[in-house]
Amino acid sequence: MNSKTAVLAAIALSTVAFTAHSEKISLVGATVINPADGKVLPNATVVIDGDKIERVSMGKQDAATLGKQIGCAGKFISPGYIDTHIHFFQSADLFTRPDGADFNSVRPYKDEVAWVKSHVNDVLARYLRSGITSVVDVGGPFWNFEVRKTANATAKAPRVAVAGPLISSVSREKLDLGDPPIVKIDTPDQAREFVRKLAERKPDLVKIWYIVDKDHPVESFRPIVRATVEESHAHKIRVAVHATELETARAAVEEGADVLVHSVIDKPVDDSFVKLLKDRHVILCPTLVVFERYGRTFSHQLNLTPEEQKWGNPDVIASLDVTKIPQDKLPQRVKDALADPKAALDRIKKTYDVALPNLKKLEDAGITIAAGTDAGNIGTIHGPALFREFQLMKEEGLTPMQILQCATANAAKLFGGDTGAHIGQIAPGHFADLVILNSNPVDDIAHASDIDAVIKNGIVYPANSILD
Ligand SMILES: [Zn+2]
Repeated sequence: MNSKTAVLAAIALSTVAFTAHSEKISLVGATVINPADGKVLPNATVVIDGDKIERVSMGKQDAATLGKQIGCAGKFISPGYIDTHIHFFQSADLFTRPDGADFNSVRPYKDEVAWVKSHVNDVLARYLRSGITSVVDVGGPFWNFEVRKTANATAKAPRVAVAGPLISSVSREKLDLGDPPIVKIDTPDQAREFVRKLAERKPDLVKIWYIVDKDHPVESFRPIVRATVEESHAHKIRVAVHATELETARAAVEEGADVLVHSVIDKPVDDSFVKLLKDRHVILCPTLVVFERYGRTFSHQLNLTPEEQKWGNPDVIASLDVTKIPQDKLPQRVKDALADPKAALDRIKKTYDVALPNLKKLEDAGITIAAGTDAGNIGTIHGPALFREFQLMKEEGLTPMQILQCATANAAKLFGGDTGAHIGQIAPGHFADLVILNSNPVDDIAHASDIDAVIKNGIVYPANSILD
């Protein structure tokens, strides 16, 4: 190589390095909270080299090794939060689940889908504004794989893991506009074939929607669960299962499910179930917030938090006022809820009376709990819904550190893969995905939303600049 080409090569290299933002920065003097090991380090310095954490050190540092310094005295640094249960194909507005409440006469579902597809970047930014630097989409149309690609190519976005369409015991025709999020599977062979088709798209998880009712008993779908798990595991893909009854969840885990994506809500979990989850290293995501949001929206008693009101999409939030819909266009389910709002709250209470103690029992037993919201469902707001989830976890007595662990280190395990192994912790070699807080979340988990700045992939975003 002559000297001229060497210079050109050096320039080319430095350009590459710059676009890969290899700048070294240091967050100096904060209290660093690492829920993975429960350690809290006062007056610490986090050194970030490019997209990775280089080191975390205590006390005075040699300025020459720090690069650009950002003073963080009085601040608190947590790993970026991870919401392990969301759905990009749903906006959280009133029209997003016509199979549950049909508002096609107010807003055709195809218009809703078009809106969702044109607002992906908006949703991604709202996650980042909420300090959420990774999300797991646990089921949606094949279009989900494009969302993952978009997120990976977008700086102002969380990392995204996705499952494809849900393998289901029931069909949902109203959601099928050609790329359905839910696919009814009738035989084990169909299940295997569908998993092979999914595997071509390299899903992070395969999702089963194990819906049980009097026409679909637990045992009738069980061979399909078994075949789905076997085929997925043969492709080295984990299986996540929606199973909200104790016996359904037990069957799913016995058949090899790796993840349960909701709480058990019909009965208290028993010791043999707890042991089964522990022995099989199953991760459970409670999704407490979603259990109140359908009922509260339909009965006009929605309790959005200040975070949701500030950082949620305003069009989505405006749509959730059912009293704005003409009476003759209200689905019966909504009419009934409006006629008896107390019954709606009673049903929610009944669910929480089971789900919350179940969460505590599993947490106390050492089961890996990953925080998640089911955002995108009606009334469960993409991004800040996670802070309502934290409140509900706190109500049942989880400590702030336990809640942070669920939303970081544990959630990283659910995210999985090579990325999952490098998020959710403030440790050397991990991605520099961090939240800088003005007040201490270990004192009160409510402080988890007191966000000063968010760092994703080593890039610092002042919180107030993110939704501009
Ligand atoms: Zn879900």
